[in-house]
Amino acid sequence: MNTYKLLTPGPLTTTDTVKQEMLVDRCTWENDYKEITQKIRSQLLDLAHAANGEYTSVLMQGSGSFVVEAVLMTAVSESDKVLIITNGAYGKRMVQMAACIGVNHREYGVGYNEFPKEADIRSLLREDRDITHIAMVHCETTTGILNPIEMVSRISKEQQKTLIIDAMSSFGGVDLKVAELGIDYLISSANKCIQGVPGFGFVIAKLDKLLACKGNARSLSLDLYDQWEEMDKDGKWRFTSPTHVVAAFAKALEELAEEGGIPARSARYKSNNERLRKLMGQWGIDAYIEPDKQSPIITTFLFPTESFDFEGFYNFVKARGYVIYPGKLTDINTFRIGNIGEIHEEDIKELGRIIEKYMKVVTV
Ligand SMILES: *Cc1c(COP(=O)(O)O)cnc(C)c1O
Repeated sequence: MNTYKLLTPGPLTTTDTVKQEMLVDRCTWENDYKEITQKIRSQLLDLAHAANGEYTSVLMQGSGSFVVEAVLMTAVSESDKVLIITNGAYGKRMVQMAACIGVNHREYGVGYNEFPKEADIRSLLREDRDITHIAMVHCETTTGILNPIEMVSRISKEQQKTLIIDAMSSFGGVDLKVAELGIDYLISSANKCIQGVPGFGFVIAKLDKLLACKGNARSLSLDLYDQWEEMDKDGKWRFTSPTHVVAAFAKALEELAEEGGIPARSARYKSNNERLRKLMGQWGIDAYIEPDKQSPIITTFLFPTESFDFEGFYNFVKARGYVIYPGKLTDINTFRIGNIGEIHEEDIKELGRIIEKYMKVVTV
């Protein structure tokens, strides 16, 4: 049995009580199970500030990427075109998906430590009148940058584009007013800030937009419309659902409410993150992203020296109870530390003591 906690952006450290829910085998067509699904769907709308009758939610089997692909496949019809804003690997993954499934798209890429620029987006939209949709990642987990959602949503609303947001690693950890922002499809998954275990993703979707997507998907399993239509009847999933994961997620939602909802969880993550960046800074380990662009979710740190032995550092920390994360940048040496999940002030302090020990015995 491993005895470490995960300082990663998901799967992440969950509570024992969430894990215990998975000890029961549940039947997919029993009413009590279907009611769990329906309750989750309505709780997600509440969390998204989208319970105004104009939105619906759909759960879908698979990891988060399956659900992003289902949205691109279903929401962008053959006559549509999506502008994909990228500054990290997850934005790039959407571009890859669009290419793979034959969705008309155009990429607007900026540096991984930069925000997309309003003027650039406006001129792209002016120049390419075929663009009907805009897609962007909210928290780019590649670096930990928190993209300017208000700016993009303002343009999208103003120009009546359909807005797709991959909020995989931020939903539940950052309060997002989905209806107010006019987001048409917001995607997240069970194993990130809601603090469930991996196995499904979900979409908060603008109902009128989704209703217009019948027959768009060129895939049976990844058809978000069909998935919604079946689930909306009474909570029965199309195809086998991950019953244990769903039960654990229902418990995780209960625990989120007990913690004080998204504002309280967001405050905990934020304070974890500030404490973490401060203590790393004391050892000359600086964040890659500027503080004003940094998310409270995950931080990319630059190696303190050229010869920094990440593997040695990683193993030292792991042997003392915490697993960190390698970097994902190709041109600079970095590593990442996530601070979401069942991670509290004491964990960050403990990590600080471990790093202090490492720094005192090893010349970096
Ligand atoms: C985790 C994550 C995904 C989905 O990754 P999977 O490995 O498919 O679960 C997508 N986008 C972002 C921003 C993520 O953090």
